[in-house]
Amino acid sequence: MAEELQNYRDTRQEFFANISHELRTPITYLEGYSKVIKDRLYSTEEERDQYLDVLHQEAKRLQHLVDDLFELSKMEEGKVSLSLEWIDLAEVIDNAVQKVQLKASDKGLILRASLNRSTAWVHGDGLRMEQVILNLLENSVRYTEQGEISITLGQTESYVFVAVKDTGIGISEDELPYVFERFYRVEKSRSRQHGGTGLGLSIAKKLIELQGGEIFVSSKLGEGTTFEIRFKLEEQGGSI
Ligand code: ADP
Repeated sequence: MAEELQNYRDTRQEFFANISHELRTPITYLEGYSKVIKDRLYSTEEERDQYLDVLHQEAKRLQHLVDDLFELSKMEEGKVSLSLEWIDLAEVIDNAVQKVQLKASDKGLILRASLNRSTAWVHGDGLRMEQVILNLLENSVRYTEQGEISITLGQTESYVFVAVKDTGIGISEDELPYVFERFYRVEKSRSRQHGGTGLGLSIAKKLIELQGGEIFVSSKLGEGTTFEIRFKLEEQGGSI
């Protein structure tokens, strides 16, 4: 296993093989279940509704995948246009938290925000920043069955940070270095069942780097995961 991970190489060929695989799976479901419905191979209305649910989920997955791929290809070509301005991360986090609140409470999870509202503003793209933070929060909700998710905004002498911490399933030490790789999914079937594409974190990392920041992860299997984004103060034009 460790050796297999060591040998993990993100080649172009592998990239396309991955895309084909990711597209083929939902398409197979769409084909199969629509045929079942078309041929009326169900015995109750409920059964039919279940199949329709699968169709709906798989169509959504395809949409999500195509959106992510489009985003990734724009970034690879350097075609992402960021609109940079001085942004207040507390405000960005407030918006993201508001959006994910319902998903968290639906799962019975506590979502806690602990924000130092006097941290330095950072030079970034507010919408992209929100997209990344939302992605981290959504992942936390997705991979946590009980407990809490907390988001912290703070500042040290040298950087401003946003940390998203959960009490979820965690990621093993072996797999941790690969979570930012395109299409990398820990425990593939479980993530797929959660609707993931394995692209979210690679996009998040690129977006953060384009804004001059860095992203880190630490995790303990069975205990939880923390993602942290940092923006160095000196690289932020000496803002207060
Ligand atoms: P996905 O769309 O599959 O969630 P990501 O790129 O967002 O893809 O994440 C890559 C993998 O990292 C996921 O498949 C999941 O296994 C793991 N992961 C991401 N966030 C968490 C988290 N908060 N807790 C546990 N595992 C996580």
